[in-house]
Amino acid sequence: MKNICDWNNCNDVGEFRAPKERDNSKDYRLLCFKHIKEFNKNWNYFSGMNEAEIFNFLKSDMTWHKPTQSFSSSDNFFKVLWQNVLDDKIDIIQKKDNFHKKIMFDNNDIKSFEVLGVPVGLKWTEIKIKFKKLVKIFHPDMNAGDKKYEEKLKLITLAYTQLKKTYKGKN
Ligand SMILES: [Zn+2]
Repeated sequence: MKNICDWNNCNDVGEFRAPKERDNSKDYRLLCFKHIKEFNKNWNYFSGMNEAEIFNFLKSDMTWHKPTQSFSSSDNFFKVLWQNVLDDKIDIIQKKDNFHKKIMFDNNDIKSFEVLGVPVGLKWTEIKIKFKKLVKIFHPDMNAGDKKYEEKLKLITLAYTQLKKTYKGKN
C-alpha cells in the first residue's frame, strides 16, 4: 500500500520523509517530491541546490532514515555529505584553477561565496582552505553539540558543495 502525501489536499504518493522536528529525528511526515521540495525550501536546508541535486539527496540513503541522530553519528545526513565533500578528488580541480575566471557564477554561487565569506571567484584552492577553517570553527564537536553551530555548518557545507560543483563542472 502506498502512502499519501501528508501535505494539505495533496493526493500524490508520499515517499519522502520530512522531519517534524528541526533536529531531523523521531517523527516525520511522508510527502511527495513536489511538497518535500516545498518543505525543504522553507526549511532552507537545500537552498542553493537545483532540483536534480535535491532529488538525488532525498533518494540517497543519507536522509532521515534513522531516529535520533546526532551530528556525531556516522550516518548523519550532513556528516555523510561533509565527508563526501572532503574525500572528493579535489586535487583534480587544482590543476585547472587558473581557468576560474572564465566561470559564469549564478545566484546560488554568489550566495555560496557569501556564506563562506570569501570574494566571488576566489581560487578553488583558497576556497578549500577557508572551508576547512570554517568547519573547525563551527563543528558541533568543538561546540558541545550546540545546534546553532550545526545549522551553520550545514549551510557552509551546502555552499561549499555548490561551489565545488560549479568549479568542477565549468572548468
Ligand atoms: Zn504532495
